[in-house]
Amino acid sequence: MKARDLKDKYIKFFESKGHKEIPSARLVPENDSTTLFISAGMHPLVPYLLGQPHPLGARLVDVQKCVRTGDIEEVGDECHHTFFEMLGNWSLGDYFKKEAIEYSYEFLTKVLNIDNNNLSVTCFAGDDDAPKDTESAEIWERLGIKDIKFLPKKDNWWGPAGTTGPCGPDTEMFYDGLEIWNDVFMQYNKNAKGEYEKLTRPNVDTGMGVERTTAVLSGLNDDYLTDIFQPIIKKIEELSGLSYVETRLITSLQSTHQKSMRIISDHIRSAVFIIADGVEPNNKEAGYVLRRLIRRAIREGKNLGMENNFCKIVAQSVLDNQDNYAGIYPELDLNKNKILEIIENEEIKFRKTLESGLHEINKLIIRNHQVSGSEAFNLYQSYGFPVEMIEEELDKNNLCLDIDEFNKLKTEHAKKSKTLSAGKFKSGLADDSHVVTKYHTATHLLHAALRNILGEQVQQSGSNITSNRLRFDFTYHSALTLDEIKKVEDFVNDNIKKNLPVMCQIMPLEKAKESGALHFFGNKYPSSVSVYSVGNVESWVSKEICTGPHVENTGIMGKFKIIKQESAGSGKRRVYAILE
Ligand code: ATP
Ligand code: MG
Repeated sequence: MKARDLKDKYIKFFESKGHKEIPSARLVPENDSTTLFISAGMHPLVPYLLGQPHPLGARLVDVQKCVRTGDIEEVGDECHHTFFEMLGNWSLGDYFKKEAIEYSYEFLTKVLNIDNNNLSVTCFAGDDDAPKDTESAEIWERLGIKDIKFLPKKDNWWGPAGTTGPCGPDTEMFYDGLEIWNDVFMQYNKNAKGEYEKLTRPNVDTGMGVERTTAVLSGLNDDYLTDIFQPIIKKIEELSGLSYVETRLITSLQSTHQKSMRIISDHIRSAVFIIADGVEPNNKEAGYVLRRLIRRAIREGKNLGMENNFCKIVAQSVLDNQDNYAGIYPELDLNKNKILEIIENEEIKFRKTLESGLHEINKLIIRNHQVSGSEAFNLYQSYGFPVEMIEEELDKNNLCLDIDEFNKLKTEHAKKSKTLSAGKFKSGLADDSHVVTKYHTATHLLHAALRNILGEQVQQSGSNITSNRLRFDFTYHSALTLDEIKKVEDFVNDNIKKNLPVMCQIMPLEKAKESGALHFFGNKYPSSVSVYSVGNVESWVSKEICTGPHVENTGIMGKFKIIKQESAGSGKRRVYAILE
């Protein structure tokens, strides 16, 4: 089966059960500084899972683009990718376990025609916090599933996203031992005391991987053999002159070639989608992840003897995939040239880095007759210089790297950044704090101010909020003068002082656009949206299509101040502002 058919069938099936389709959110979360990428379908829906009404109702379905950097070390196996598409259906306080499991079962066995005997499931085993999920198990049993296992929290429990919030048991579905789908039942609220209170309006959140399920349905045990990856793999075979599957004999060399091809296709596909959502390679956060992906792909290319620039050509094969991406994700078509250019430039840059890294290594060899573990780690860490290449250079000189010391430093560093990013994820989401809400409304007022003072050609091109400041990117040709900055600040502060109400209206997308509500060009919106206006509905100061949340009244926001401005690329400016 083609991935496209699976996606269509999934959406149609859940629509027939009263679900409304919502578009995929961007990979980079808007106004959420707690995490770098969307990693599951539920992620953009957190506000609704916490009780905010969704404009399209209580039953939703979608295909969501996801990036899981945490899975990067697994990439190279048959079924873990950094980028993948997740199918999901939600009940926001509507149906619960019975319908959710019955829908899953019906979809798997009636729509996808999977034989009951190939399916197995796991349910929550119970512990001191919450009882064993016999309810789910009984529903599965009644449907005829024989293989039901009970597992502890570590395997069959989701959440909360932060330290407190909704959470609950889940039930996972496996096809011949491979996990393909997960139904999460958010039926508890973990409170500040660490107790699990039963929720009166529990939610259902599910996630099914497109790549894995497509493979299973095609009778394949390798995602890279599906129509999703084959055009990319073929291109790499062509460029390297090697073949992905050697049927006559699988040698260990063959299998490392296969692994390299998987990593290259995975990483370049991710890079294409990440750039399409507005990220450029640099040395921090999302930009750094993107840079690492491209560099790792180039390193794997070396294993295949690909010494010339190839990333752009591989990226082109992702963009050209008519069955899955071209014409389906408008952000790919709109940004085609930019994506290819960024990838090509990054590759050229990295190859230069490799050259100077090699030079550096050879200098160390001549001077010290050795490259120490910490020198190697430095080269790896600051240049992204691959450790295998350091070993190769040493080997040429009959020397050998203290790989234990290198690995020790690498593990220490990884631990440090893991704690950092775990902290990052925890700090937000569930406790979408007051401060962040204020900054969110301030962003709308700033947008209105810029258009008022600089002209209507100003358009928002990005924004990011932390609990300390807001960052706002917009289209404009030159730096703001001091006078313009003052005027923008005054505009925002005047409207804060006026103590204006902030209103949310739910309306059809076309009506929202007609009414003058600002929206992102090129963004996909659902057919019905929420529109936030600051001021009165007739004489508003700002009006935008947005998911919120916002303050109820501008009066509580404090004093607005722009603290910094800079360029954000050609024709784009960036300002940072605080509320005092
Ligand atoms: P696994 O244990 O195999 O890593 P998971 O428990 O992390 O899976 P969930 O978080 O439950 O998976 O995500 C829901 C579904 O998304 C999975 O059932 C699977 O089909 C898919 N999925 C999860 N991680 C990946 C990945 N890295 N690449 C491709 N698909 C994935
Ligand atoms: Mg996982």
